[in-house]
Amino acid sequence: MRYVLLIVGLVLAAAAMAFAQEPEPAPAPTPTPEVTPTVTVTATPTSTDPVTEPSAPPDFAAVQWRKSQSKGSWARKGRLVRGVMLPELGEDFFTWDPIKNQIPNREWRRYGTDRLIRTVLTVIHAFRTEHDSAQRIGIMDLSRTHGGKFGREYGGLGHASHQNGLDIDILYPRKDGTETRPTKPSQVDRELAQELVDRFVEAGAIKVFVGPKLNLKGPKNVVIPLIYHDDHLHVRVR
Ligand SMILES: [Zn+2]
Repeated sequence: MRYVLLIVGLVLAAAAMAFAQEPEPAPAPTPTPEVTPTVTVTATPTSTDPVTEPSAPPDFAAVQWRKSQSKGSWARKGRLVRGVMLPELGEDFFTWDPIKNQIPNREWRRYGTDRLIRTVLTVIHAFRTEHDSAQRIGIMDLSRTHGGKFGREYGGLGHASHQNGLDIDILYPRKDGTETRPTKPSQVDRELAQELVDRFVEAGAIKVFVGPKLNLKGPKNVVIPLIYHDDHLHVRVR
C-alpha cells in the first residue's frame, strides 16, 4: 500500500511539475515579410538621375541679390526699387552695349528685378548646359538703375518699355558662334534661337518679341513678331 501510495505520489508530483512547467512559449508567429527581396532590389536608390539636371547657374555667385520691387508699368511711369545689377560678364553670358556696339554694356543699363535676373541666368545656363559648344549669350539693355523712361535720350532708338525692371534684350545665337550682335537675319542660328525662345516661354515669360524675318514660333499671345527684333529677342517677365 505504501508502495502504491508512493507511486501515486510520484505520478501526481510528476503531473504537477509538468503542469507547473510553463509550456514553451509558442514562437511568435513569424510575420510574413511585407517586402519581398525583389522589391528591395527595385527600391535600391538609382545612382543618378537619368536626365542631367543643370546645376545652379554659376553666375548667381557674382550677383548682389536683393529683393526688388517693380512699380508702374513697363512703358508708363515705370520704376524699379532695389534693382539688381547684371554683372558685365559671366560664364554663360556677355553684355553688349547697343549704342556703342561693344562688350560690355554700361552698368546703368543693366538693372532688373531679382526675379528677372534669376530667370534669365537660369534659362541661359540650362541652354548652355545642353549645348556645350554654344557661344555665351549676349545680353543688351535691361532697365536703368532706378527704372523710369528709357527712350531716345539714352541713345539709339531707345525703348518704349524697359521702365520697371521686367524687360531684357537678348542677342540671338549666331551661326558662326562669335560673341557679337548679328547685323542681318541670315547670321542668326534659327534653331538655337527657337530653343531660347521656347525656354523663356517655359520659364514663364509673359512676352517674347522676336524678329519678323526669323519665323520663330510660340504661343500666339506670348511670342510676337515685332519690328527691330531681328537681331535680338525681348523678354518680359512678370
Ligand atoms: Zn527690348
